[in-house]
Formats: sequence, C-alpha cells, structure tokens
Amino acid sequence: MAQKKMALACSECGSRNYTITANPNRVERLQVKKFCKHCNRHTLHQETR
Ligand SMILES: [Zn+2]
Repeated sequence: MAQKKMALACSECGSRNYTITANPNRVERLQVKKFCKHCNRHTLHQETR
C-alpha cells in the first residue's frame, strides 16, 4: 500500500522544512506551527503536494 508523503512548507519563507506521511482519511489541509530554521522562529507551516 503506497503511502503519500507530503512536505510542510513555511508560510513565510516557503522553505520545506518537514516531511510527513499523509493521512488518506483527512481532507482539509494541515496547518501547524513549527520551527523554521530560515526564519529562526516558529511559523505556520502548510502542507504541499
Ligand atoms: Zn520560514
């Protein structure tokens, strides 16, 4: 069974700092606060495809 990998990109600088395994049961786009080493602080990260 294939697992979809997704990246979490910083909403401020756009760099993809994390990769996650997508949950097929989830429809809405994930938004999480995570640390961005480019911005050097916690920013909102959104999943990309
Ligand atoms: Zn950033």
